Amino acid sequence: MASAPHYLDHAATTPPRRVALEAFAAAQTGANPSSLHRSGRAARRLLEDAREQIADLLGAHPSELLFTSGGTESDNLGVLGATRHATAAGRRPHLLVSAVEHHSVLDAAVQAGREGSQVAVLPVLDDGTCAAATVGAAADAAVAEDGPGHPQASLHVAVMAANNESGTINPVAEIGQQVTERGGTLHVDAVQAVGHIPVDFAGSGATTMSLSGHKFGAPPGIGGLLARRDAPLQPLGFGGGQERELRSGSVNVPGAVAMAAALAEACAEMDTEAARLAGLRDRIVAGIQHAVPEARLCGPHEPGGWTRRLPGNVHMVFPGRVGESLLLLLDAAGICVSTGSACTAGVAEASHVLLACGYDEAEARAALRITLGHTTTADDAEALVAAIGAVAERSCGGDVIASRLRPGR
Ligand code: PLP
Repeated sequence: MASAPHYLDHAATTPPRRVALEAFAAAQTGANPSSLHRSGRAARRLLEDAREQIADLLGAHPSELLFTSGGTESDNLGVLGATRHATAAGRRPHLLVSAVEHHSVLDAAVQAGREGSQVAVLPVLDDGTCAAATVGAAADAAVAEDGPGHPQASLHVAVMAANNESGTINPVAEIGQQVTERGGTLHVDAVQAVGHIPVDFAGSGATTMSLSGHKFGAPPGIGGLLARRDAPLQPLGFGGGQERELRSGSVNVPGAVAMAAALAEACAEMDTEAARLAGLRDRIVAGIQHAVPEARLCGPHEPGGWTRRLPGNVHMVFPGRVGESLLLLLDAAGICVSTGSACTAGVAEASHVLLACGYDEAEARAALRITLGHTTTADDAEALVAAIGAVAERSCGGDVIASRLRPGR
């Protein structure tokens, strides 16, 4: 029988935690939390307990948490909900988004542009960090376009807490201060941060912040948007008016309860787990650099630490190779990793994150993202380290494997 793969793609989805699956099963009330009868009220109690628990773990008030289907929906609402609200109030929205945002933010920004917002992209440093000073200067420049006093202008900023490819952690509180001083709104995509590093909504200066359950051990299909009570937002969907009339649709009660259980466990073990994963992360980086000396680590170097780089993230460029070929060769060796960047119609795109960090097109197609999580063992790390030398050697000279697997491409 084939042995289980070494799963090193936790930033895509981490396997559900046992506590979350048990909570999910126990919360199958079969009733709608909006129903007024006793069964509905029982479901509502479970939902509100989950809301309280999650909000408390993230430094928020329970009334600030809206349940959604996941990170994409939360990011769409955080970005487009804000610009549409401003437009409806007769303002002229200026939206600033960092160049390395997830597509659920970037594509929402493109849509905001189609709807009349002025959209500008915030550059990042070579290690992927979005500096607070960059945000302040860009905000001043953007709003100044509207002329003296600019009474009609409104400022909206979206900068992520931690990057899904490079693992770079941003100075969110400093960015929040820049935005607050200018009277703007700040959306923070905290999908890769929640459950992995400390997150404090109240102290962040964010107006809205997204989270996604399947990134920290809840089943997929549940997420959240933290939204301050005074957050100027317009709903994107229409219906029953659930979740402060901002996110209509029957709420996924078992998912919410499972997400609370997963987050409680992730937060309880955060310090020890971050130290453990940072150790494995550093071991993988050293092992790859030994086997493939030309491989370069993208994002911040922070041996042993996790204030500037996520503890479970390794992101490396392998010059002269194609990331997808490396991925498929590792897959054949029973090791699951990612290139980190999107795939369109089966063809790997150059990573917009690496391009924004100053890598060239070829390098931006030559990356592997190896991400660790709560099920990762030292054995998984050693399997990757043992395989990478031969895999990098075989994939020299291009996209051989990928073209063989996709005849006609
Ligand atoms: N934002 C970031 C930074 C992500 O990494 C992801 C998923 O990869 C998302 C948003 C989208 O989350 P979901 O898959 O829950 O829609």
